Amino acid sequence: MKKLVVASNNCNKIREIKQILSKYPIEILSMKDMNLNVDILEDGKTFSENAYKKASTIYHILQDKCMVLADDSGLMVKGLNGAPGVYSARFAGEHGNDKKNNEKLLKLLEGMKPQDREAKFVCALVLIVDSKRTFKVEGEVNGIICDEERGNNKFGYDPLFYVPEYHKTFGELPYEIKNSISHRANALKKLKEQMRDIMEEV
Ligand code: IMP
Repeated sequence: MKKLVVASNNCNKIREIKQILSKYPIEILSMKDMNLNVDILEDGKTFSENAYKKASTIYHILQDKCMVLADDSGLMVKGLNGAPGVYSARFAGEHGNDKKNNEKLLKLLEGMKPQDREAKFVCALVLIVDSKRTFKVEGEVNGIICDEERGNNKFGYDPLFYVPEYHKTFGELPYEIKNSISHRANALKKLKEQMRDIMEEV
């Protein structure tokens, strides 16, 4: 079976990607599965630049032996002019401190107009199949930042991201639903279209 390495150490992202791609006859591996312990500086100005940097770094380390998929994603809030954006993971300073990031976000939005709480999650995906084929896609999902955390799924900003169609936050929605409507799901849908050709070779 063809191997696809997800260039991320974020177990939440890997779990979601595995679930969304579960129908494909590919073995999805994490960096941990490959014994890779690499820290990649995410210093791009866009999600796509960061995703490409992660994918290409890992692809070269693995010496072109596996397909590599990288995700760079984050939250963009209208009243904050698109922040936290590419700084989503380290919004409050410390990388990956979801609790502090959420507290900072709530503080900044205090007293702002309801329209300013409109937000979107964005996910850029880069798939490197081989030295000649690289695919880049982006997916989004719209929501509203609510005024307190809701739900047991504590991944990132999920407990604050309210989806009007479901009257629930991503933190409250079952994984199957989040994974069918999320920015990552929307980006993976676009990628799946492009993967059809690749799957014929697998
Ligand atoms: P990255 O690893 O640089 O792509 O960081 C992404 C950051 O954006 C995460 O640490 C979260 O704070 C946030 N994020 C991205 N996708 C999601 C999601 O699906 N739910 C909640 N937060 C997310």
